[in-house]
Amino acid sequence: MEPVHLPQAPGGQATARPLSAWLPRLAAARPTGAYVHVPFCFHKCHYCDFYSFVDTKDRQEAFVDRLLAEARAMAGLVHEPLQTLFVGGGTPTLLTDERLARLLRGLRDALPWADGAEWTVEANPETVTASKADVLASSGVTRVSMGAQSFQPALLRQLERHHEPASVARAMGLLRAAGIARLNIDLIFAVPTSTLEQWQDDLAQALALAPDHLSCYGLVYEPGTPLRARLEAGGVERLDEDLEASMYEHTVTTLAAAGYHHYEISNWARPGQECRHNLLYWEDGEWIALGPSASGHAAGLRWKNVAVLQEWLDDGPWPPVRSVEALDEDGRIGEAFLMGLRLLDGMRSERVQALLGRGTRAAQRQAAIDAAIARGDMEWSGDRLRFSERGVLTSDSVLRELL
Ligand code: SF4
Repeated sequence: MEPVHLPQAPGGQATARPLSAWLPRLAAARPTGAYVHVPFCFHKCHYCDFYSFVDTKDRQEAFVDRLLAEARAMAGLVHEPLQTLFVGGGTPTLLTDERLARLLRGLRDALPWADGAEWTVEANPETVTASKADVLASSGVTRVSMGAQSFQPALLRQLERHHEPASVARAMGLLRAAGIARLNIDLIFAVPTSTLEQWQDDLAQALALAPDHLSCYGLVYEPGTPLRARLEAGGVERLDEDLEASMYEHTVTTLAAAGYHHYEISNWARPGQECRHNLLYWEDGEWIALGPSASGHAAGLRWKNVAVLQEWLDDGPWPPVRSVEALDEDGRIGEAFLMGLRLLDGMRSERVQALLGRGTRAAQRQAAIDAAIARGDMEWSGDRLRFSERGVLTSDSVLRELL
């Protein structure tokens, strides 16, 4: 998958309320994108903390009906044609061909779309057949994000991924034959027991498939996952930090040499092929969220739909939400830094100065930036503040101070 960890609103309220309860505030919403969450998976990978579960196909039909009803209700918040759609999960391509077609065509009808809108769907290589590729292409999908994660059979087993390395090339061939040219490959490095040579081979195999976008994430031991429990019980060992750093550095140099622009900490694209939907997140844009556990952001509110399929199915058409967060000024400033500085080109000086001129923590933030510049972790490049090449590796701690 192509994970973007959105800032999550704190939970707390025991009873879910429909998002429409916040309509007076949401009247000012100006979303330009939509995220759809499909929670079904073939198998639950032990490192995954997304809301997804093993599909028994008994609720796919109800899911599509309910999602389209939600899209029609949420259309009231959309005042201009949307520029991007991202259908993630979960494994959206696990929907049957007929249901996937109904979902995508229903979204086309329910919401206004700009000409040339980017439509991305996440796919698991094993679920891409010729007919599925045709459904995606004929429904207007312009971009597919392929969850490859690794080309090493042993590491795929470590990750509990149930696909053959060869199916990535097969799936990409089918998608290209159907007319979908924009393809992303997701890879995970720093998998327990992995070596630098294996990671070099993963990158080489991915590059041989000529994707126009690559997402490379270091494995995260997310709290609450079986993998984290195994780590804490001593059943699995974290990769050495220096080796993980070497893998990242190798990624930076290899992908630069292959002509990919490193535009976000974990994302690389051929010129002009950046993921427009994810840029919306990083550039503090507004989007609506459809489906269980989907997170949205508009009119200064961040919300997360209820993350229980049956509860979401039983409610509607507005999504039931349990957490809605209206960030105060300091929260908004912290988030603007957190998201904006993930982009390798950084933030314009004007924006940085405007953010540092507000809020109650301006002096602390200024000091954190000055210290990072003094250490060589941040730099001014022209009129933009950004992380230096070595600073990207330790950016998390600086971003925490800016939050
Ligand atoms: S396929 Fe993706 S969403 Fe599904 S369990 Fe695995 S990592 Fe999570």
